[in-house]
Amino acid sequence: MLWVHARLAENVLAFASGLSASGHVSGKVCMRRNFDRKKRRSILSWGVLAVALAMPRVLAEPCADTCPAPMWIDDRRITDAMTAGLHELLQKGPAPSMQALVQQLNASRCTVELPRPKSSILSPADIYERKKEGVLIVGTLMDCAKCGKRHASLAGGFVVTRDGVAVTAHHLVERPDHLVMGVMTWDGRLFPVTSILAADKGADVVVFQMDGTGFQPLSLSDQARVGDPVTVISHPDNRYYSVTTGVISRYYYEKIQAKAVRRVAVTADFAGGSSGCPVLDQRGNVVGMVVRTSSLYAEGMDEKHDHLQMVVKSCVSSDVILELFP
Ligand SMILES: [Zn+2]
Repeated sequence: MLWVHARLAENVLAFASGLSASGHVSGKVCMRRNFDRKKRRSILSWGVLAVALAMPRVLAEPCADTCPAPMWIDDRRITDAMTAGLHELLQKGPAPSMQALVQQLNASRCTVELPRPKSSILSPADIYERKKEGVLIVGTLMDCAKCGKRHASLAGGFVVTRDGVAVTAHHLVERPDHLVMGVMTWDGRLFPVTSILAADKGADVVVFQMDGTGFQPLSLSDQARVGDPVTVISHPDNRYYSVTTGVISRYYYEKIQAKAVRRVAVTADFAGGSSGCPVLDQRGNVVGMVVRTSSLYAEGMDEKHDHLQMVVKSCVSSDVILELFP
């Protein structure tokens, strides 16, 4: 059964015109009021001249379907909508309890048909434009021990099938003290997480099922080489749908409880809240999933950790994720 909280697209993602009109960028609105008419007329004349000069070029090179209007993201509204949606899931359902999901973390593999890897090379702007809808905001609702209120703990994930199979980090699910788990898509729809299909605690990966349809899946590839460009779409500290770029820094083993786990390090930035989000190659295929950062400090001179040298960005390698889909 499809469970849709609400179409939050208009509330969550506002176009530039809407934001200016509603005064969210108040500084710019005030500046505009202070313009005198003469200045406006003069700017207008130069503007008309500039448009006239640019016209033949614009007509000769019509904007492709890949250059839409810029979009402003309202982080506070997304956080509020996600929190309200999770509350509603908890009160009205249908969603299993977090404890029920945690008990399903012993599932090891699942049979799901994944989309084939894509082969056309894309720019980071095209990757964002075409792949962002496959990136999820994944959240759990928790009782706060400090203030007694309920908060949403939010991070990321990505869709792998049209009918709602998705991937996220194990550490986001293994929270038996939390209450309920849900996801929000780019267009502001909220869905409950209904079951865990496969999990690998050591590698920090979980495959889960959402209750819904019409999702935009991302394809996985294990063909990226060291030095290849990557794009990360993630939510560092609730800054939703941020893009960073870099390269694959190296593939390496990380020892976790006597087990050697295969990781991929990238130079594209991310931070707390980015966990579960996809690392995409230049074709828009998922080649890794964000799991954690390790800060490297200058040795000896720096007991207080004042001299940060480098932050290593660690991800689950896509071949480890693919092992959950035999
Ligand atoms: Zn609190």
